[in-house]
Amino acid sequence: MLDNRLPLGVLPTPLEPLKRLSQVLGGPQIWVKRDDLTGLALGGNKTRKLEYILHHALAQGADCIISAGAIQSNHCRQTAAAAARLGLECHLVLGGNEPDEVNGNLLLDKLLGAQIHWAGEKRKGEDIPELAARLKQQGKKPYVVPYGGSNLHGALGYANAVLELAKQTEQRFDHMVFASASGGTHAGILAGTRLVGMDAQILGIRIDKTEGPQGFAGTVLELANLTADELGVEAFDAGHVLLNADYLGGGYAVIGEPEREAIELLAKTEGILLDPVYTGRAMAGLIDLVRKGYFSKDDQVLFWHTGGAPALFAYADKL
Ligand SMILES: *Cc1c(COP(=O)(O)O)cnc(C)c1O
Repeated sequence: MLDNRLPLGVLPTPLEPLKRLSQVLGGPQIWVKRDDLTGLALGGNKTRKLEYILHHALAQGADCIISAGAIQSNHCRQTAAAAARLGLECHLVLGGNEPDEVNGNLLLDKLLGAQIHWAGEKRKGEDIPELAARLKQQGKKPYVVPYGGSNLHGALGYANAVLELAKQTEQRFDHMVFASASGGTHAGILAGTRLVGMDAQILGIRIDKTEGPQGFAGTVLELANLTADELGVEAFDAGHVLLNADYLGGGYAVIGEPEREAIELLAKTEGILLDPVYTGRAMAGLIDLVRKGYFSKDDQVLFWHTGGAPALFAYADKL
């Protein structure tokens, strides 16, 4: 259960009130949980997931790790860092083709010693089974970390994050808001709040338009219930999975004016760096919801900063 983890992160991460942002927006009290500061090669939410996933990998006797993502995947960068730290070989299957300029997370993947496999249109690991079979033929014991680290083990990382939060503060939150893309963070926060008895509304801001056959809410619900079952807490129904899809803009990793505004506002009012793909979009959603009067003035709203700032450099021309 929650003890089956490797201590890879620098935890607990800070919990901070965003006083100046709250004042500028004239809305609810906004707080941030700094999961951009989880350590492990510039941090982010995947570090918490990898604490559980790689514990499982080592228990299975794995000697090499495979994962997949977009060219600027934060998940892949943190996976490469964790693998390096554990002395495991790391293979990353990245969407797109080898770019002329190596920047942001891709630069870090290479510095961290990952072997990169270019997958063209397929950024969600479609080529992994073939690669895994090839590595097995070479006598290796590959372990596949799923896209975004979103399986039961990954979600346990976020249940553990909520436990950490509950130990850290007496503060009650009315809402928790965060970027939701592959669903593990969302599922883990849902199960974790139930475990510690927090009654905040859990709201994911959608980042990626694409979804599986059961729909993205269905994916989150299924994973939340797997996690709830593992933790021995009551199951969820569809009504518990709150997702807002109003901020998808031009689609995954297409940076628009809302993301630019959110990144600048957080930087200039709080000295905090958001990222262009996930937290910039999620914060843009939060800001818009404040402006629309979605929250009441004295609500306490927690924003989970899930990381991603290393990608800022790769999007310099869009910012
Ligand atoms: C992966 C990622 C997310 C989304 O988390 P999921 O668990 O995949 O929904 C949010 N923010 C950043 C910076 C990420 O890298």
